Amino acid sequence: MSAFEPLIRAVADFPKPGVTFRDVTPLLADAGGFARCIDALAEPWQGSAVQAVCGIESRGFIFGAALAQKLHAGFVPLRKPGKLPPPLVSVDYELEYGSDRLQARSDALRPGERTLIVDDVLATGGTLEAARSLVAQLGAELVGASVLIELEGLGGRARWQGEAPLRSLLRY
Ligand code: IMP
Repeated sequence: MSAFEPLIRAVADFPKPGVTFRDVTPLLADAGGFARCIDALAEPWQGSAVQAVCGIESRGFIFGAALAQKLHAGFVPLRKPGKLPPPLVSVDYELEYGSDRLQARSDALRPGERTLIVDDVLATGGTLEAARSLVAQLGAELVGASVLIELEGLGGRARWQGEAPLRSLLRY
């Protein structure tokens, strides 16, 4: 078991019956655990010349911003609708029930900028796929993606296409 795994709380039947929610807030509150987690997220990308880290709203902001600092990269928020002023690029994606939209400033990444996508949890993979599509629309170069937690039973990894590696620290 990794050093920070005990700091992730499994909450049964949240937000709805049958779902086990992985709560990362105890990890964030633990100075040593959070630092070790960011070190472990950064480790595979050291030497990859990452220039920008895109964090997905909202917990992806927390891990992504800390990771950007660690990798000496800039941070770009990928946001839910209605949060960023125009001009924007947008991607619509399907959720289990309904759909959602992810947006970025239309000049958020430079063409060819070496970019890493970060989120807390990979579940069905729709959110990460939308983030990848935004990075492509912006003309940046995708180096890869990192998530803290991969929920293996939900098949998210199968939706992640292409060469860029997808890394996860913990798998359930
Ligand atoms: P996906 O699009 O189905 O892969 O869902 C991933 C998104 O849902 C991520 O942005 C996560 O923050 C969120 N998410 C899904 N399951 C959990 C969970 O158990 N804990 C925290 N966030 C979750």
